[in-house]
Amino acid sequence: MSTPKYAWLDGLVPWEDATCHISSLAFKYGAAVFEGIRAYWNADTQKLYLWQLDEHLDRLVYSQHMMRYEEPIAKEDVAAAVIKLLQANAFRENVHITTTAFLSGPGQPFICAPVSLAVTAMARGDYRTDGVSVQVSSWRRSSDSALPQRVKANGNYLNGRLASIQARADGYDTALLLTQAGKVSEGPAMCFFMVRDGVAITPDKQSDILESITRDTVIKLLQENGTPVEERPIDRSELGLADEAFFCGTAWEIAPVKSIDRLALPAGTSGPVMQALRERFDALTLGTDTAHSEWRREVPLT
Ligand code: PMP
Repeated sequence: MSTPKYAWLDGLVPWEDATCHISSLAFKYGAAVFEGIRAYWNADTQKLYLWQLDEHLDRLVYSQHMMRYEEPIAKEDVAAAVIKLLQANAFRENVHITTTAFLSGPGQPFICAPVSLAVTAMARGDYRTDGVSVQVSSWRRSSDSALPQRVKANGNYLNGRLASIQARADGYDTALLLTQAGKVSEGPAMCFFMVRDGVAITPDKQSDILESITRDTVIKLLQENGTPVEERPIDRSELGLADEAFFCGTAWEIAPVKSIDRLALPAGTSGPVMQALRERFDALTLGTDTAHSEWRREVPLT
């Protein structure tokens, strides 16, 4: 994988110098919170748009607050770092950005400072999928009563990681995790929707999901499109009544599900609800659909 010239570690640094110490609380205890953010390049208009930057940075602020950081990094400082890094690397393509606020010093597990900001921006790998096979994992989604699932904490990702590893070892593309109570929760890094009799259904926010920005966006776009949406618990057996299903998330965008536990979905990989949604989503991210300008921030190119 080719690496960009610069990263951000409390300032612009050459990529090779963006390192953290092995005694840091981030390294030892996973004391870090982060955001994955996209920037989309419109080749026709030669514009680079950060997608839903405000929403992501609001969540980063919330994550730092919940993890009781004593010197949280301010939203405006993260936004400025992201823009400077995109400019320094002179991207003219789609980019995936990670902003991580982490405890960079040594100490006991209850220490909550100092906080450093790390940002990476890399040309986007092609995550676009035309349909994934899904295994309902035997790993259950971590409960909000053990680790706050609304917080995008690095440590939370061990749970989805195990589910992904298991799914791939068993010959599936990815996993769908159930809550401790056995209701559908979400994928390892994406939220889940199924369509049943023309109604889009997604697990409610009490199903131990991350409060996903793309999930909120999808709900809005479905409603604008006239598709009714229900946010409610989903039983495992209800998955067998889905006409179509898809995942959504910043990295995954809108990704159709072709089968769950080897049961094929009737609509295959091109369900009409998913298709219409994906087309609209793509147009909005590129600014070819000019609605919802509040979701795009143009990066001034230098
Ligand atoms: N769930 C988890 C566990 C995730 O990591 C992500 C990716 N951030 C999502 C859901 C989707 O969230 P978003 O739409 O905010 O990217």
